[in-house]
Amino acid sequence: MTTTPMIPLVVRARLASGVAHATPWGISLDGLLASEIRENYKAECRTRGTEYEPYDSASEPAPLELPLARCTLAGQDNWHWSATFAWPDGEVAGPHVQYWSSRPDQHALDQLSDGLPALVSERQGRYRARVMPLPLTIASALVWRAVGDPDAVLDLLGGVRTIGRKRSSGHGHILNWTVEEAAADPWASSHLHLDGSLGRTAHAHCLRGHQRVDTGGEGQMGLRPPYMHPATRREVLLPAR
Ligand SMILES: [Zn+2]
Repeated sequence: MTTTPMIPLVVRARLASGVAHATPWGISLDGLLASEIRENYKAECRTRGTEYEPYDSASEPAPLELPLARCTLAGQDNWHWSATFAWPDGEVAGPHVQYWSSRPDQHALDQLSDGLPALVSERQGRYRARVMPLPLTIASALVWRAVGDPDAVLDLLGGVRTIGRKRSSGHGHILNWTVEEAAADPWASSHLHLDGSLGRTAHAHCLRGHQRVDTGGEGQMGLRPPYMHPATRREVLLPAR
């Protein structure tokens, strides 16, 4: 059996226009790889006609093997994958906000209910029409740093053609992926954006002995995928952006 080469990397997604975000920070590379593995597994199960375990916030998430190194500087319980959140390269200064609207489909409601009132109000109540803001990041590329197996990372990312929110509306279209070896320190590649600020959620112990790292302060947030799961939530330092 050959050992997997884990080397410092720069991962780049060239964008057609930009990306719509749901969180104040960029999309995590480890989260993206984890969701791609999960999607591939679900597709296999569908092909075989077998069941798969649905996501459950009440039970321990199934262990997952990513083609990335692990940082265990903060102990076995606070480990994280060696990868940052996305950094927008060639960003056009914002804010850029689009609005989308939705209204209930009267025909669909009619099919769901046998006692539909004559008029479902669009002005009030659960089925009212909505206008929602959609914050956008306009940039020519998203960039991540990582320590991992370049071929395996590129292989998984090749299946990701769009990224972020509202992808079916044309947001987050990816033109191509590149994964390049970086002449960088593995610790920096695991924790910092290219400008030297904190690029991911990390336990305070991860930054011990490293001076002047800008962070986004402290807070409760996930340390590894699935980031929204209560079992991965810790008291962490937040990314600078
Ligand atoms: Zn760390």
